[in-house]
Amino acid sequence: MSSQEEKKPSLEEEAHVLYLYETEKKIYQRRFVGFFRKLKKRSGIPLLLGYLLLPWLQIDGRQAVWFDLPARKFHIFWMTFWPQDFMMLAWLLIIAAFTLFSVTVVVGRVWCGFSCPQTVWTMMFMGVERFFEGGRNKRIKLDLAPWSFNKVWRKGGKHFGWLLIAFITGFTFVAYFNPVRQLSIDLFTFSAPAAAVFWTFFFTLMTYMNAGYLREQVCKYMCPYARFQSVMFDADTLIVSYDKARGESRGQRKKGSDYRAEGLGDCVDCGLCVQVCPVGIDIREGLQPECISCGLCIDACNAIMEKVEYPKGLISFTTENKLENGATHVFRPRLLGYGLALLVMVSVFAYTLITRVPLELDIIRDRSLLYRETSRGMVENIYTLRINNMDNQAHKYVINVEADQDFRFIGDSIVDVAGGEVYTHLVRLELDPGLLKRGNIDITFVLQAEDDEKMHDSEESRFIGPFIR
Ligand code: SF4
Ligand code: SF4
Repeated sequence: MSSQEEKKPSLEEEAHVLYLYETEKKIYQRRFVGFFRKLKKRSGIPLLLGYLLLPWLQIDGRQAVWFDLPARKFHIFWMTFWPQDFMMLAWLLIIAAFTLFSVTVVVGRVWCGFSCPQTVWTMMFMGVERFFEGGRNKRIKLDLAPWSFNKVWRKGGKHFGWLLIAFITGFTFVAYFNPVRQLSIDLFTFSAPAAAVFWTFFFTLMTYMNAGYLREQVCKYMCPYARFQSVMFDADTLIVSYDKARGESRGQRKKGSDYRAEGLGDCVDCGLCVQVCPVGIDIREGLQPECISCGLCIDACNAIMEKVEYPKGLISFTTENKLENGATHVFRPRLLGYGLALLVMVSVFAYTLITRVPLELDIIRDRSLLYRETSRGMVENIYTLRINNMDNQAHKYVINVEADQDFRFIGDSIVDVAGGEVYTHLVRLELDPGLLKRGNIDITFVLQAEDDEKMHDSEESRFIGPFIR
């Protein structure tokens, strides 16, 4: 066999094999403190504290934010929403979505990089990891090292820390649906309802998996926002960009050398921007869907630029237009469109919220009996009034009937209904058959609170009598 035949590459070597189920390489992120890391911390901590402390806040003797599913009431600070207010929730979600779209058009994925719970929790989990296992190089070494007491306690401590944070997260989430004080007592005395225990442990497990193991893979493969956010980008959207014209050709050089004469750009190819990246990408390869715009590579590169005494900003938050033409257009049709849509929606929502009357009246006619004749020869109809006082205050309501006939009202015409109560009230209407000109008479029940003019509602019904020829 000739030596040329011996060197012939195998079919496998020749082919470019793409494994669809390739295992993700573990990312060992290097910690680097700079402007954007501090910003990330400052934006994440208030959100985190808000999430953890909100269930403990009490207003008017109840939990300030409490989604009481069994009673179908959503308490949000001073307001209580019922299933009837579903439209408001829908508006709120649409407003949140459009706000996110508008923000994305202007500043790209800053939500992902600075405020997304996945980012905030991953940042916390990484902090615990660093506390027990040390910096990037120590973590790599520890993973490669054989099992020893040192490795066991470090790994054990990390997982204990992760599980503790995950449990607090899961518990807090469930506390938005179950009063937090009672839930804490019930959980620690093993008397909590099965559903509360299940969901607490379910969210504990999810948090542990998402922030401990899946991390950037959630952003890459699972997050729907990551999939479609790029369609909102335009050439004037702020993105994290590497200035290729300035940086290339990248390469190492001696300090003080005339690197331009050697054909080199400003990138010293130190690789720090890749090491600090939480999703493990190289921003020098251009904008990639994985980039969460956290700006950590900017911090790292600026520090390097400072060290080698080159101008900062080789990697920066900038726009495609700024890089190519030196200018960014702030006002553009897409942004104006989103802004206008947002303005309309916020106005509709605010109007609905301001004019919302937390009262609902339902009239249920006695269906088993269309009408009955009383011993006094009157025609009588029976109605059940369902008064839903969605306000947090009790009210005294006056019931009136509006019609083109004068009915005799039998039953209490003034009722007391407690805050949040659904009160059922039976009333009877009587009419002299001589006054009954038609078989049916349209009537309207009107409910008015004595102590609050805006608390009123009305509902139409019918008075049915014998058919008159
Ligand atoms: S490339 Fe830079 S901005 Fe994008 S995720 Fe990585 S570190 Fe963050
Ligand atoms: S940190 Fe800056 S200089 Fe270093 S490799 Fe990245 S772009 Fe180049």
